[in-house]
Amino acid sequence: MPSEVKRDPPFADEARICIQCASCVSRCPSPLPRTPNIRKMIRMVQLGMIEEILQSDSLWACALCLECCGYCPLGVKTCVIVTSLREMAVAQGLLPKPAVYFTNNTLRRGRPLPLTPEEMTSWAQGLDLPRAGERIFYAGIYPMLDHAEPLLRTSSKLSESRFRLLSRFLIALQRFGLDKAVVRMGQRVKPGEEFRRSLISSVKVLSRLGVDVAYLYEEEPWCGIDLHTYGLRDDFAKHAEKVSRKFQELGVKEIITPDTLSAFAFKNLYPQVIDSFGIEVKHFIEVVAEKLKDKKVSLKIDNTFIVYSDPCYLARHMGVMAEPREIIGKIKGARLREVESSGLATRCDGGGGMELILPKLAMEMAKARAEELMDTRPEMIVTACPVCVMMLKLGLEEIDSHTEVVNIEDLILRALGDKA
Ligand code: SF4
Ligand code: SF4
Repeated sequence: MPSEVKRDPPFADEARICIQCASCVSRCPSPLPRTPNIRKMIRMVQLGMIEEILQSDSLWACALCLECCGYCPLGVKTCVIVTSLREMAVAQGLLPKPAVYFTNNTLRRGRPLPLTPEEMTSWAQGLDLPRAGERIFYAGIYPMLDHAEPLLRTSSKLSESRFRLLSRFLIALQRFGLDKAVVRMGQRVKPGEEFRRSLISSVKVLSRLGVDVAYLYEEEPWCGIDLHTYGLRDDFAKHAEKVSRKFQELGVKEIITPDTLSAFAFKNLYPQVIDSFGIEVKHFIEVVAEKLKDKKVSLKIDNTFIVYSDPCYLARHMGVMAEPREIIGKIKGARLREVESSGLATRCDGGGGMELILPKLAMEMAKARAEELMDTRPEMIVTACPVCVMMLKLGLEEIDSHTEVVNIEDLILRALGDKA
């Protein structure tokens, strides 16, 4: 057991507050087929049974969605406990192999998937965005998702042992740079693919609203949130420092991004690990909502029943819930329906990092969220996080639903009468 545990680390203080009422478990969307669940994990921390937790898959089955925290009568910060335990697991070499593969990529190649600069930036071809400026548009995870989606679909169909084997195989190939071919197998990336197309929508919407942005193209650094999620916190701090220096060198003062995870990383995590990040970070939705307040713009679609699914990171971690509703409310023809688990009480759809380690489990969560959203009988599901778009689409496939899942930037562009 690492010495910090014997010295009673701060997360143990957090665990001590828990009275074992199990409210957290009743709200946790992760099916956690193996024990311990979150309540038991906290009890085990109270009892000093750290080793057992570190060996358990349950530690990686948490989506860090924060739903449990909202229902805990004592406000126990479960995510602090989980991420601290993950840090200890990493220190003991217990990081699950899929996470080893992705974080190795971030540490050695700058991002979780081994894509070329051309693949990362091809979406911006023909948009003539300036290469430098104080206000930049940050593409973040989007270009990677056109590759991640087929990977995830395939992984979720594999048995656990085969998935583990695939991860080991990728790590072995990674040493020689041969994993790139496997990652590209079965992918369906051509210029103008879904997530890349949403980036074009975002930029066009911003332009229509009079917001000029630059784009750093191949110079755009990855935020590194995967390092934080999987407990490589020292590496995350070093990565954040490098990224911050790069932004400074390039004269960046403001970031606008539709990538919810990166917005969260820059807004909430960077200030925790570097003293002087000093860059204003805005989610695309915040900028659009603000602009629409004082600009007369005609927004219209055919009459459509829409259910909006709040992304956990946007709603619970960043408090952005009113803005997407205000925007949808301004679109003529958009008839908003609310699902019971919405706003602060939204339900995770299996994203947030666990999908790469436990894809089958993540798929169960995606399916459950898709079923819940479909109970409102929508004609369209709208969300504001590209990972949620991916998970909800996969969840709908599981229940044989052909209901459209639309990124909010695509909906707005459509309502402006344009297309990407
Ligand atoms: S953060 Fe979310 S997934 Fe993790 S234990 Fe809490 S409710 Fe469950
Ligand atoms: S809801 Fe809070 S107090 Fe109750 S078991 Fe969960 S963490 Fe403990």
